[in-house]
Amino acid sequence: MLNDPIPPHVDPRKLADRGVTLEGSLPLSDLERLCDPLSDNVGTVQAKFVFERDERKAVVIHSHLDVEVKMVCQRCLELVTLPIHSECSYAVVKEGANTQSLPKGYDVLELGEDPLDLQALIEEELLLALPIVPAHHPEECQQPAGTDEPEPSEDEVTRSNPFSVLAQLKRDPNV
Ligand SMILES: [Zn+2]
Repeated sequence: MLNDPIPPHVDPRKLADRGVTLEGSLPLSDLERLCDPLSDNVGTVQAKFVFERDERKAVVIHSHLDVEVKMVCQRCLELVTLPIHSECSYAVVKEGANTQSLPKGYDVLELGEDPLDLQALIEEELLLALPIVPAHHPEECQQPAGTDEPEPSEDEVTRSNPFSVLAQLKRDPNV
């Protein structure tokens, strides 16, 4: 099942009636807008979509997406391979329908009579899942030779605090 291609267009209402799970893959290079911020378009998106009707008979889709992408680390400017995982729940509603009564935690997916463009949905969801500032894990990040450590951002200072406190405790023989 895992290597089946993901159909580009589906009718989520029919699939939900049958309780279908679609599982498959598609080449990263098919998603042009997603590849734009990436360093290359080599890779495969693994996608799983569970279609069902909830207790209120609304059509819902649960997505699970996985892909490895290559981006430029903003700390050392070398390539970094980043595993991207995204899960979402969508509630399918008619165009212009009242969405106020929808349960929380669902993204609203307005759909008229046209089939759902599954490929566009995958692309949109993965674009949102990309890191805003791609970077290596600090321990794996190689500073280019001869350059100074960049000023740590406020965020990093906060995160490193518990460790410096710990280091001080360890240095104190009375603790
Ligand atoms: Zn790096």
